[in-house]
Amino acid sequence: MTELTGIFKQIEEHTYTIDKCFLCGCELTNDNKTEEHVIPKWLQNQFNLWNQKITLLNGTLLQYRYLTIPCCFECNNLHLKPFEDKIKSAFEGGYDTFNKLDRETLFLWLGKIYFGIIHRELFLSADRAKPDYGTITNPEYLKSFYSHFMFLQGIRGKHSFRDFFPASVYLFKTQKPLKIEEQWDFVDSQNTLFIAIRMGEIGIISSLQDCGATQKLEDLIQHHRDIDLHPLQFREMIAKILYKRFLMNRIPKFINIQNGESTETISLSLQGLSSKPIFDDWDNDVYSKILSEITGVALEICQPEKGKVWTWLMNADGNSIFIPFDD
Ligand SMILES: [Zn+2]
Repeated sequence: MTELTGIFKQIEEHTYTIDKCFLCGCELTNDNKTEEHVIPKWLQNQFNLWNQKITLLNGTLLQYRYLTIPCCFECNNLHLKPFEDKIKSAFEGGYDTFNKLDRETLFLWLGKIYFGIIHRELFLSADRAKPDYGTITNPEYLKSFYSHFMFLQGIRGKHSFRDFFPASVYLFKTQKPLKIEEQWDFVDSQNTLFIAIRMGEIGIISSLQDCGATQKLEDLIQHHRDIDLHPLQFREMIAKILYKRFLMNRIPKFINIQNGESTETISLSLQGLSSKPIFDDWDNDVYSKILSEITGVALEICQPEKGKVWTWLMNADGNSIFIPFDD
């Protein structure tokens, strides 16, 4: 067996414990220990999130202010801060400026938030009344996100993709309600590597590890881009893309190669040797259940009759509907 070096060694030796930096895995001491906010401070300030709660994997609610993970001084200040500054300044420029951000930056940003949440769950009891039940997630579970974690090393400039992009990233212009609490929305589906955020007039949805396959749905959603989505329509969009992701029947395969100080990843063909389509057939009855769950609208409305599904995005002629937020 060849000896592991560089990032491979770092990842292999990462224990995902509270005494290690979540990103580079280095040992934390009193001199280099910092805390990284999974939802960055500037966003929490912007949308007054500090005391609002996020729902974790097992249904636990946690205030955003406590959603922090251990991070070393170098990762925090040398890598994450400039990275966060870039996103923040694009955000401040509004939707059009944000839309100009390169997709890899967006991928890494969303990918860090996604991973940060699972990482935080390492240190929370699955059941607060029964501490011996263990934590919500465990290091073994985190290790199953090996490829994703490898990709995140791009934040430190230690990883790149060779001739492929690992994700689908969708941006939508959304309506900005007057009340600050209504300007923020967050959804994730942890086992599917899926995340969606609505922040003011910017809505982002990403399937983080489908090698862009879900993005083919773009044909279906393209004509909704002529309207600013109502928060409910944004939720419908999440349901659509998430269900499409569920229908994907292939698991992406990657090969990581050491390239000097950093690693590079190659992706194997998603189609593989089988001629079977990579998505199973769309089933409106299954989809309407997901739509109901994501939008919080009763199933009887989402599924008016068997085989049929409701939509807030278009009328009977297939044209987009603009729903003003006041309605
Ligand atoms: Zn670090």
